[in-house]
Amino acid sequence: MTDVAAGLGLYLHIPFCIKKCAYCDFYSGTAEEKAIEAYTERLSEEIMKWGGRLCRPCVDTVYLGGGTPSLLEDRLVPLLDAARTAFLLDDGAEVTMELNPAPNVSEALSAAVTAGINRLSIGAQSGNDSELALLGRSHTAADTLAAVRTARRYGFDNISLDLMIGLPDSSVKTLEKSLDFILSAQPEHISAYILKLEENTLLYNKRGIINLPEDDETAEQYLYMCRRLESAGYEHYEISNFCLPGRESRHNLKYWRCEEYLGIGPSAHSFIDGKRFYYPRDIKAFKAGVLPVQDGGGGGTEEYIMLRLRLAEGLCFEVMRRRFGISSENMVKAALPLKEAGLLRVTDKKISLTDKGMLVSNSIITELLENCT
Ligand code: SF4
Repeated sequence: MTDVAAGLGLYLHIPFCIKKCAYCDFYSGTAEEKAIEAYTERLSEEIMKWGGRLCRPCVDTVYLGGGTPSLLEDRLVPLLDAARTAFLLDDGAEVTMELNPAPNVSEALSAAVTAGINRLSIGAQSGNDSELALLGRSHTAADTLAAVRTARRYGFDNISLDLMIGLPDSSVKTLEKSLDFILSAQPEHISAYILKLEENTLLYNKRGIINLPEDDETAEQYLYMCRRLESAGYEHYEISNFCLPGRESRHNLKYWRCEEYLGIGPSAHSFIDGKRFYYPRDIKAFKAGVLPVQDGGGGGTEEYIMLRLRLAEGLCFEVMRRRFGISSENMVKAALPLKEAGLLRVTDKKISLTDKGMLVSNSIITELLENCT
């Protein structure tokens, strides 16, 4: 069961990149033009199939992620046309495309405008060129600023920048420089993630020789970033996301609010009719028509608490009572010690994490579950 009635979110996965970044575990690889062409056609076919299967439901957010969807350029238009034919795309739909900064992004932006994309998520990652090189990014900080300026010229007034913290050799000082840089670009939205070393990545293989900050140093960076962005007028609306008022990512909110979304493409996940399912991380299987496989979770108590507590809007007592039969007395009893430790805010209607609590959200969720159910 979903949380509130809303349109469907549509995610399209584009598994191609110019080169693999040193930290990246997303399902993506390099490919030739012909392979990109063939994949886009197959993706359009799959979109059409889903439109028929779900009886053309209303879609109010579309997100093209990857990979590097901006590589599609003029193939964006037929892809979005397929989505408009298969689904009832809301007039005010938020249509986001991830874009990597590059010396020349004009062609990608021009195609994005024609395709009806109205929001960009740009992979800035850092304002320090030495950190970008270490991450294996193929752009400089100057390329990011140039991409934002070009996007503004193309009329994009809803831009998100990605930032990574807790990088090798980083400190509050280096982060300060990155934040100065990010803020100078005046984005409407900022996604900021702590670097996690994933197995099978170049950075993971170098783990013995890179100098990652200790956990408490990374925590210090996170709390500094929260203060800095909040004082610059950004709302900290989700553990890793900040926005100017009213500029939340409507698509990503669906994930955290347990609303319905359909993901198409290898590795893409969906949540529909209380069921979670995903396509295997295998482009050959996707091309061969292999169907998505069912996932474990399906809107249970643990999953619901975990997702809702990521959001500043928090966990509402009334919804917990209605959905899971958990009384507000039990919730408050479980929450009070965490409030005293400065990790939770508790009102008469809901609980939510403080910035400090967001750093240890997993242990807070475990403690709440143990004590309120
Ligand atoms: S551009 Fe993004 S998806 Fe591609 S390799 Fe780098 S981090 Fe991964």
